[in-house]
Amino acid sequence: MTESSRNPHLSFSRLSRYEQCPRSYYLHYRDKLPAEPGMPLRFGTVLHAALEALLKEAIDEQLVGPLSVERALAFYQAAWLAEGLSGLELFEQGLHICRAFVRVQGVLDWRHVLAVEQDFRLQVGEFTVVGCIDRVDKLDDESIEIIDYKSNYQLFSREEVDSSLQLALYQAAAQTLWPWAKNIRLSYWLLRHDLRQVTVRTGQQISDALTYVEMLGRQIEAAASFPPQVSANCAYCDHRHHCDAYAQALTGARSVVCADLTNLVELAREREEVASLSRVLYARKQELEEVLKAHLQDKEQLELGGVRYRLLPTSTVEYPIEPTLSLLADATGAPKEQLATKLLAIDKKAFDQVLAEVGKQLPRARVALLKAEIDAHASTRYSTRFWAKGMA
Ligand code: SF4
Repeated sequence: MTESSRNPHLSFSRLSRYEQCPRSYYLHYRDKLPAEPGMPLRFGTVLHAALEALLKEAIDEQLVGPLSVERALAFYQAAWLAEGLSGLELFEQGLHICRAFVRVQGVLDWRHVLAVEQDFRLQVGEFTVVGCIDRVDKLDDESIEIIDYKSNYQLFSREEVDSSLQLALYQAAAQTLWPWAKNIRLSYWLLRHDLRQVTVRTGQQISDALTYVEMLGRQIEAAASFPPQVSANCAYCDHRHHCDAYAQALTGARSVVCADLTNLVELAREREEVASLSRVLYARKQELEEVLKAHLQDKEQLELGGVRYRLLPTSTVEYPIEPTLSLLADATGAPKEQLATKLLAIDKKAFDQVLAEVGKQLPRARVALLKAEIDAHASTRYSTRFWAKGMA
């Protein structure tokens, strides 16, 4: 092991960068190339800065009451300017997120916010792990909630929340910072969805996570090669401009074309290569379209290379329940309940969101029972979906 391969300290971002793509780790920490974060990362930075300033001001002013929407928007605009972002659509998303944050927060009691942007240092075996927790709230004399703000479009799966290494590290750090806290709730606050995805960990799970951190730290130090992991995430990688593997993937260059479709091994190899490339190219298409859409915010259309681009309004129709059932019942003479049974179904995504909200107020066991009772009435429709996953 050389001096440059030593990990002076570890952090969640350092570990997760290696887990996601060893090449990215190498470019960032060994070659020390300057990062060029993409728009989603920069937008997340702006939101974090705005919420940090908003909460810190509320604590300074010893606020007990709702946060100020005007102050939230002012902090957001200042952070947007400082980051040098542009694009009306994204800017408006941020305004919406800040307004929703204030609404979802409701009444804030400054005495219940234990920390905002709390730095920590944690000894894990031979390594020092450093990090920063977005926010820690005191729930009662024995309980705290660790909150990490996320600006993801997609919600995390239950498995992702329950096995998050980031949240495990935060809990381990919180146990040293607030040793009186017997109960620790871990939350991802999904800013785009107005909801928190919550989990808890046992002492054994935290101990296992720290063992994994130490092992991963040693594995990184001992690594002799740092292979690229080309995936859809490459479009957002802050070192993509220095990555040969990504440049190669963007050309769409293929190495396998199966001429004999009865050769299933070769067919599967080509399928995996095409699947991987198509994810990369789709993500790149999205990235390019975001740029074009930003230019179309103040122009009716763009004509580029013989192609015309426009933003066309789209619409979806939703029928309000009560007047729709009433009109149909009047016209047909059928009872409303009968019509409702035929016409109405509860959207699973909306149902899950309501259940997540309920989960904040009721004990976990009660929520699980409620879900089981409702699930007993649900019907499932089956179809087939093509599925493929790499084998270790
Ligand atoms: S562009 Fe993709 S393969 Fe290249 S370093 Fe970044 S994540 Fe890794």
